Amino acid sequence: MNVKEQVLKKYFGYTQFRTGQEILIDGILAGQDTFGVMPTGAGKSLCYQVPALLLEGITLVISPLISLMKDQVGALNQAGIHAAYLNSSLTVNQYYKALEYAKQGVYKIIYVAPERLMTEEFLNFAKSVTISMISVDEAHCISQWGQDFRPSYLKIMDFVEQLDKRPIISAFTATATKEVKEDIVNILKLESPTLLTTGFDRDNLSYTVQTGKDKFAAVEKYLEDNPDKSGIIYCLTRKTVEEVYEKLSKKNIAVTKYHAGLGDKERKENQDDFIYDNKPLMVATNAFGMGIDKSNVRFVIHYNMPKNIESYYQEAGRAGRDGEPSECILLYSPQDVVMNQFFIDHNRDNTELNEAELEVIKERDYERLKKMTYYCITNECLRDYVLRYFGEYGANYCGNCSNCLNQYETVDVTDVARGLIGCASACRQRYGVNVIIDTVHGANTAKIRQYRMNENAHYGELAKTPTYKLRQVMNYLLLNEYLSVTNDEYMIVKLTEKSKAVMEEEESLTMKMAKEQEQEAKVKKEKKKKGSASAELDEAGEELFEKLRALRREIAQEEKVPPYLVFSDKTLAHMCVIKPKSKSEMLTVSGVGEFKYEKYGERFLSVIIV
Ligand code: ADP
Ligand code: MG
Ligand code: ZN
Repeated sequence: MNVKEQVLKKYFGYTQFRTGQEILIDGILAGQDTFGVMPTGAGKSLCYQVPALLLEGITLVISPLISLMKDQVGALNQAGIHAAYLNSSLTVNQYYKALEYAKQGVYKIIYVAPERLMTEEFLNFAKSVTISMISVDEAHCISQWGQDFRPSYLKIMDFVEQLDKRPIISAFTATATKEVKEDIVNILKLESPTLLTTGFDRDNLSYTVQTGKDKFAAVEKYLEDNPDKSGIIYCLTRKTVEEVYEKLSKKNIAVTKYHAGLGDKERKENQDDFIYDNKPLMVATNAFGMGIDKSNVRFVIHYNMPKNIESYYQEAGRAGRDGEPSECILLYSPQDVVMNQFFIDHNRDNTELNEAELEVIKERDYERLKKMTYYCITNECLRDYVLRYFGEYGANYCGNCSNCLNQYETVDVTDVARGLIGCASACRQRYGVNVIIDTVHGANTAKIRQYRMNENAHYGELAKTPTYKLRQVMNYLLLNEYLSVTNDEYMIVKLTEKSKAVMEEEESLTMKMAKEQEQEAKVKKEKKKKGSASAELDEAGEELFEKLRALRREIAQEEKVPPYLVFSDKTLAHMCVIKPKSKSEMLTVSGVGEFKYEKYGERFLSVIIV
């Protein structure tokens, strides 16, 4: 084990870094600026927390929200790492005390709100200690293009300029658009940063769109099938939140609510009830969720379709941060479209803009709404649809969304494959994907005539197969290496080792394809739980899991922290699989570090061993 792996195991209890984490950590430890773009739940915090423990001085983490800071500092202290936050939730006394400790070097990691940076006390403090790194979390807040622009984020560089020595600067966000990324690099003046963007897919989330008149009945049914799980139900308006909340309360379900119409105090209490699992079900408008890092949210139900895919992905993405299988369900009705159009027409968020600018925004919002609506009515793979929206290429079939499970069938595509491969071969591997497809389809275009592909033996051979299907099969062949394309702008189709077997009638090919006719199919309960700990639990395991959950709750109450900060669902599930009988066995459980073992290990062992 190298040093960073030791830190990972000792404090966080994990044995392996996830995709991308190591590259970013190594960048920082090599003294370079670093910029990580990873989806929610990918584990960005560890990318600066691990190096923070290995670097000499203090790491300052800039974070936009009090709740986020609290959550992270809570988690660090649970793991035995001294950390603190400095923000407006502290009283003046608490603030000065924390600064005093910080000066004495008590904290390795300090979270600070951007507004604090340029204040006199803070500057004095910062100049009196060694700051080895500044980590900008939720870095998209620096960009006016982003949804959550925070002007005070622009002060970060003023602050850095005040320091005698420029610290390493690292930045992290889940927002991947080009403008935002450019802004972050430019405004933070990152110096040839180690840059990493990981894929946006969250393979532990399943996606479902349900259409049906009675939305509330759908929710009821879901809650009945999934008792005791924590989840969020998002509604488009306060009024709907109140209605759904009332109806659920009447059924004695432990539910709470959140929207901008409630007072500060009630909002905070309700949020805490949810986070601490006193009321594991939250009904809310989109005002809820920014800064919620609760890792054991098992489902997010949208009672109404949100206004765009960005919002949907962000809100639905609050499910399953611990990596365990979780569900994202959207209850769609055409009425949702009308409501969203109304909001777009009456949008008064941007009072400083002129008429022409407002018109541009309106058009853009309509366009986004349209894409969101397509999501709800498409027959294609929902995951693939979203990934394509964000500019990634998925695999057409994921097997873990309601369309893949209900709208797809296995189709024999051997003949189509032979046509495409045969055509590529017959034109001596000289043309690209489009020419091949047009040829077998028998298109009569200038290009086809110019290349004399209308004289090709395969011309028109698959005239009856629609072009989009030909394209799907072509993609399938490329993905599975039955064909390949040259790695240049021409993308010439080439044969591969595997092409031959198909042509020589040795191999028949099948693939999943969207059914022609939409079906009123029920969502199958066949969920893909690929490689997850909880998938492996049998009945006895489930029972143990519940016992461990009860113990976790007890401890959380003693410690006054949310249960998931004691151990995550994933860690409990892993305990049920491994059933550790000793300290050394307990330490092999993912999420059990030395510090947490000392605090809680034996209590959990005693429940497992009986
Ligand atoms: P992000 O900020 O990218 O949304 P977080 O940093 O909040 O994600 O991490 C999400 C969850 O993943 C946390 O519960 C964290 O403990 C867990 N996690 C992070 N890195 C690892 C790892 N290497 N192995 C296992 N779990 C991890
Ligand atoms: Mg984060
Ligand atoms: Zn799918």
